[in-house]
Amino acid sequence: MPILVTGGAGYIGSHTVRALEKQGREVIVVDNLSKGHRSAVKNSPLYVGDLGDRAFLEDLFKKYKIDAVIHFAALSLVGESVQHPDAYFKNNVGHALTLLDVMCENNVNKIVFSSTAAVYGEPEIVPIPEDHPKDPTSPYGESKLFVEKILNRYDQAYGIKYCSLRYFNAAGADPKGDIGEDHSPETHLIPIVLQTLLGKRDSVKIFGTDYPTPDGTCIRDYIHVNDLSDAHILAVDALERGSESKIYNLGNGKGFSVREVIETIEKVTGKMVPAEESERRPGDPAVLVASSQKIIDELGWKPQYPSLDDIIETAWNWHKQFPNGFPD
Ligand code: UDP
Repeated sequence: MPILVTGGAGYIGSHTVRALEKQGREVIVVDNLSKGHRSAVKNSPLYVGDLGDRAFLEDLFKKYKIDAVIHFAALSLVGESVQHPDAYFKNNVGHALTLLDVMCENNVNKIVFSSTAAVYGEPEIVPIPEDHPKDPTSPYGESKLFVEKILNRYDQAYGIKYCSLRYFNAAGADPKGDIGEDHSPETHLIPIVLQTLLGKRDSVKIFGTDYPTPDGTCIRDYIHVNDLSDAHILAVDALERGSESKIYNLGNGKGFSVREVIETIEKVTGKMVPAEESERRPGDPAVLVASSQKIIDELGWKPQYPSLDDIIETAWNWHKQFPNGFPD
């Protein structure tokens, strides 16, 4: 039975669609292409539409006997969410409710949900375990936490079983090099540095050098997009085996500062990165590093690309081949 992947033309979505295809799964992709790319979906059918369009979703659930949903489609920029909380709550919470309604109507009771480290806010314990207090600093993090709470209530009331995956910093690209990260505007550190090396930008701004970290810049836990994809496969498999609802962090458990990321990119590419020190970016916690022990222990998740060098190597491979990103 097919898996419905919402946001399957996006960065993490398209890599997960490929991973599902490799498993021999039938995949149906839904994307409104506001952020996703038509050419990121190479093999599975892509239905272009919005999750706010209930009739569109109802038609799709009538056409296919969907077994489970992997729900990526969402807005995902912390800074933008502070400026436009309405868009974030409508898209991320409102559309999730519509999707869940249509799932319930069609007796589809399994969903893997794309959550985020942003649900935690400023960490009190590092590495962050799943039961760490949740105090999101942005509407983005809040919107994801609301959906997690909704899922919990829908499990109790309607038997929806969910697996919520809280990603830390997704990075890298499929080693094949034909799909990768392409946001516009791009806001993420690694693609911005690589675009600078390709002459697409003049320099990289280091946002904040006075954080309470060893070199004063923010520390993040970078995780390869294919390792995230693998976790989605494990999550779907667990739900199909009848697992209870679960929440897991996904990171490598090792933090790198902005300066360390830039140095690693210089080492991997052999090029000097023009960088300038700049003001802090509002809403950035100083340190975000995951404990992913729970998914390792419970689902046997094992990252294939735990090294930052390898993550950057695969991203560089994609950016060099497609300096302008996807054609459409
Ligand atoms: N960052 C930076 N310059 C940039 C983009 C990002 O210094 O042009 C920093 C950002 O402040 C954060 C880290 O790099 O500390 C990772 O940011 P990114 O946007 O990649 O991911 P986020 O942590 O926001 O999910």
